Amino acid sequence: MLKLTNVTKKFGELTAVNSLSFTVSKGQVFGIAGPNGAGKSTLYNLISGLYPFEGAISFNGKEIAGLSPHQIAKLGISRTFQIPQIFPSLSVEKSIGVGNHFGSREGFEQDYVDKVLEFVNLHDKRHAMVGQLNLLDKKMIMIGAALATKPEVLMLDEPMAGSNAKEIIQLMELIQRINRDLGVTIIIIEHFMKVLTELTEKLLIIETGTEICCGDPVEVTGDPRVIECYLGD
Ligand code: ADP
Ligand code: MG
Repeated sequence: MLKLTNVTKKFGELTAVNSLSFTVSKGQVFGIAGPNGAGKSTLYNLISGLYPFEGAISFNGKEIAGLSPHQIAKLGISRTFQIPQIFPSLSVEKSIGVGNHFGSREGFEQDYVDKVLEFVNLHDKRHAMVGQLNLLDKKMIMIGAALATKPEVLMLDEPMAGSNAKEIIQLMELIQRINRDLGVTIIIIEHFMKVLTELTEKLLIIETGTEICCGDPVEVTGDPRVIECYLGD
């Protein structure tokens, strides 16, 4: 479904992403991990069309290099950010509605926004101002806004960051429901190895923009090269 071939991104002298190639299959939960500064968020920025890059990225057989973020969202690729990107004075419902305006191919659909509000358990808080809610709710809103674009692929950037054990379980449960009940392919950047081994079917480890290894999450997390690159973090 999503295929990257020799994708490289340089910022001046710095090579943030170094000739990465991998494929994500339809319906998969695909994990990405690596130390801080490894190039994980940059990879999402490239897939979502924020910067030009070298190499190729195809989605359902179509090359997406050169398309705008808006065109890429309309194709069915959606993402969340490491720090929740929200408008504090907007209502929960409007915040999720923005996602539907931005990405949906069918024009604005209130029914779908209602469905997403239920799905992320924010139906009761639909009129609340986003800025007044707690971090977990803000994360649910950001995921809800991404879902409202009706994505085929949802890319999550460290969704568990700053969350406690109970919140992590709730977020994991939501991610599993998005994958199983809505059939959305998931790519997840995460630091918590336990989350990755529980959620993902395939795991890619990168360091300084370069692949360390990629494959079965249990094998990958036990790989001496991966353990070494984490001890150095
Ligand atoms: P990660 O998400 O794995 O922690 P990032 O993708 O955010 O890493 O960053 C990878 C490297 O690229 C870092 O060294 C970072 O400073 C650099 N970088 C990221 N975005 C930019 C940018 N817009 N301009 C210059 N350097 C950047
Ligand atoms: Mg990052």
